Amino acid sequence: MLNKDQAVCIRTVDYSETSQVATFFARQTGKISVIAKGSKRHKSSFGGPLEILTYGQIVFLQRNQSSLATLTEFEQKPALTNLSKNLTALNCALFAAELLNLLTEEYDPHTQLFDSIIEFLENIQKTKKTEQMLMLLISFQLTLLTQTGFSPILNLCSNCSMPLKNSNHLYFSSSSNGLICKDCEVSFYDKVKLTPQAANFITNLKQLDKADKNTLAEIEKILITHFTNLLSKPPKMAKHILALK
Ligand SMILES: [Zn+2]
Repeated sequence: MLNKDQAVCIRTVDYSETSQVATFFARQTGKISVIAKGSKRHKSSFGGPLEILTYGQIVFLQRNQSSLATLTEFEQKPALTNLSKNLTALNCALFAAELLNLLTEEYDPHTQLFDSIIEFLENIQKTKKTEQMLMLLISFQLTLLTQTGFSPILNLCSNCSMPLKNSNHLYFSSSSNGLICKDCEVSFYDKVKLTPQAANFITNLKQLDKADKNTLAEIEKILITHFTNLLSKPPKMAKHILALK
């Protein structure tokens, strides 16, 4: 049966001399792997090889969920062309795509998450400031965690559930899935102490756009540690984000 959906390409692998297997995150379908036959030929019906982070309407033939679907059409939107002009924006976008691929299951749709990755990609290609990019990346990562059922607890102590009063003594623990208060921190070997600035913004995410670059980098580092724990390995793009100046 032929299916139509809006989708963003989050991974491509060469399948043969002329074909690729691509992973798309599609609005109604969720994550899906498709074979794009002949996509690497000059005169391919997809207008050339499929590229990560492109998006638009896909049409695919799906016999059943256990076999690889076949991509028959991909009508790309030209909206994300600026992304390749800024390496930092590109690295942030590739990191978001990698995490999206690692945290979602095939045929498990998340329309809100789809809308949020598109919004993230459209916004990040428009910005030139590293702090703005980090802010967008952190917001997307938190949406991803929430939508995939891994939402960290940031409004109270994730261990004792008491309100977090003192931002001078606040910790994040991946094993506790959230913030930890001063009374509980001793029980968590993996805790990371937050600076008061990072503590203020992580408990008040609506203000995140007012945080400076160092604070955003600190929050992002904590999230990377958290993703590394969740996935039991560091995501490949993490080192490029940690190296941001
Ligand atoms: Zn506590």
